[in-house]
Amino acid sequence: MTTASNPRPETASDIASLYVGGTWRPSASGGTFPVTDPATGAWICDVSAGDAGDAAAAVAAASDAFPGWAARTAYDRADYLYRAYEVMMSRQEELARVLTSEQGKPLRAARIEVKYAADFLIWFAEEAKRVYGQTIPSARPDQRFLVMRQPVGVVGAITPWNYPISMITRKLAPALAAGCTIVLKPAEQTPLCAIEVFRILDEVGLPAGVANLVTSDSPASVGEVFLTDRNVAKLTFTGSTEVGKLLARGAADQMKRVSLELGGHAPFIVFEDADPAHAAKGAALVKFLNTGQACICPNRIFVHRSISETFIEVLRDRVTALRAGSGLTEGVAIGPLIDASAWERMAAQVSDAVAKGAELVCGGQRLAGEEVDGGYFFAPTILTGVTPDMRIYREETFGPIAPIVVFDDEKEVVEMANDTTYGLASYVYTRDISRAMRVSEALRFGIVGINDINPTSAAAPFGGMKESGLGREGAQEGITEYLETKLVGLAL
Ligand code: NAD
Repeated sequence: MTTASNPRPETASDIASLYVGGTWRPSASGGTFPVTDPATGAWICDVSAGDAGDAAAAVAAASDAFPGWAARTAYDRADYLYRAYEVMMSRQEELARVLTSEQGKPLRAARIEVKYAADFLIWFAEEAKRVYGQTIPSARPDQRFLVMRQPVGVVGAITPWNYPISMITRKLAPALAAGCTIVLKPAEQTPLCAIEVFRILDEVGLPAGVANLVTSDSPASVGEVFLTDRNVAKLTFTGSTEVGKLLARGAADQMKRVSLELGGHAPFIVFEDADPAHAAKGAALVKFLNTGQACICPNRIFVHRSISETFIEVLRDRVTALRAGSGLTEGVAIGPLIDASAWERMAAQVSDAVAKGAELVCGGQRLAGEEVDGGYFFAPTILTGVTPDMRIYREETFGPIAPIVVFDDEKEVVEMANDTTYGLASYVYTRDISRAMRVSEALRFGIVGINDINPTSAAAPFGGMKESGLGREGAQEGITEYLETKLVGLAL
């Protein structure tokens, strides 16, 4: 197996990145696929290319392990998660380096992600013990009602590349805490982070088959097993709305439970009573987080006309000061995009907007230069004069482009903000408490940050309305996604 300190396998037999039934092994076909550094294009190593057969074997292992794991006490299950938390935190630096090298985000951001990932392990270690039932009074004197919560069963999990450690623990920790067993298929761009998470689970002695890993570069074939194998009770997915819909349709055939964390199109609203400089600093931080590749990144920035000049000036100063390069280099704030298709999407959204009358304040093209030539770097970009007929107004950008729309009144801006099929995160800058309350109630988004660019935590429910998904992750709600409710009626 590959390791962080030795990512280059010595021989083909070292490539054993599937973890099935408590054993590391290569794919049955012997196939592999390469992992590369998006900042340089350099090859890092090859990993096993699991296919449908490997996925079926992993589901069988999870299914065999389920009764034993579900029968353990919550205290017992929590113990493994506590230990995994401790090991993950003790390896924060090592994990952050693996993350940066295969995903590209600056090392500082990678360290923060590892901590965020570990937070889910400890949060759900604690929540495991708080899965309460209920007794309900009956209208009949000789009847009692008892409500039990039981684990759903085997979970098939699919995760994206943009937060390649925390998106895993956000699913794995509540599933294990609830008493479910799991098979994970991580994104093909970032299998090394998943391997590191499973090394930790192996090290803390998690019983065989409770958590299984299938690295693969043929996601549809693994997804198909999750959808069609009757041993899989639930599918949990984080990724694009397009693939989420496809999986939801497929899951309907066997009425499998689904949790979906999908795309976003966050509005960022700056009212006239806000401090425009403070709001612009916030916008620069959250828009360019992970090079704009986060589902909660603002996708339309609405600024009140009276303060728009100052806001744009401060934002431009901040954005042009961002240094791009390899995330392993000190002082770098902007990493690469994940691949060439992301590059093309940025260029297409910019040229469409400019053709329809938007003005380019800065950026708008691929970056060139010694530090960035090998990777998929795109210049941090600001567009003003953005209008509803432009692609960027409707499509998720998932990259470093800040589109600005000027508005005049509250009702108008709330309508514009809600005019999207997405409903994940939203942001509001105002110093008026009544307006803050009014607007948070009116926005059709699962998350509202009021003067707050980071309204996320393992303790807080994360998820979207409309086409941004189904269900919530983290918080008390996160574990309920892995529980069934059972009613017991008892006649005395
Ligand atoms: P994607 O949907 O292409 O890929 C996500 C995962 O799905 C990967 O593991 C991929 O291998 C897998 N996949 C792709 N096609 C599949 C198929 N046919 N069957 C089964 N699995 C398949 O998304 P992406 O472009 O890699 O990730 C970015 C998207 O994820 C963005 O839209 C972003 O907003 C979203 N995202 C959402 C959240 C959230 O919590 N809501 C968090 C992170 C990312």
